[in-house]
Amino acid sequence: MRNPVLATLGVGANLGDPRTAVRKAIADLARLPDTDMVGISSLYGSAPLDADGPDYVNAVVQVRTALSPDALLAALQAIEQKAGRERPYWNAPRTLDLDILLYGAARVDHEHLQIPHPRMWQRAFVVVPLAEIAPDLVNPAQMQAVSGQALHRLDG
Ligand code: AMP
Repeated sequence: MRNPVLATLGVGANLGDPRTAVRKAIADLARLPDTDMVGISSLYGSAPLDADGPDYVNAVVQVRTALSPDALLAALQAIEQKAGRERPYWNAPRTLDLDILLYGAARVDHEHLQIPHPRMWQRAFVVVPLAEIAPDLVNPAQMQAVSGQALHRLDG
């Protein structure tokens, strides 16, 4: 088995009961095989970017995992499927969206998988929760770049 790698994952939902969907997804991530949960951000609310629908609820988690990037992606997609995700059109509102943001220092550039996630540094709902749980991974310029985006920390 490969050595465990610190992976950073994005969790988002904006349909149904998004807070419950995000909390449930985090519980599912904590149960992945060969994977330990290392850190969980607060939940944050934000208006959708380039998409319709009610506000998103987002969080970022870090796991230490022996799953390969492809195996991790497959596991995330299985959790999304279980959450009843439907994609009737591009960028449609979704029950649950799970992304691999970082996988150690690895760079992956496949058609089906890009790591680091190509848009992560443009999104306050990624950068702000990431800075909460892994401040060393976010520099002031990266925080500043998303400071114009409305985002609020949700209670409990
Ligand atoms: P989305 O609709 O944003 O959830 O995109 C889903 C698609 O993005 C999937 O088909 C994945 O193969 C692809 N994808 C590319 N890079 C990543 C990544 N780093 N994490 C998750 N999905 C990714």
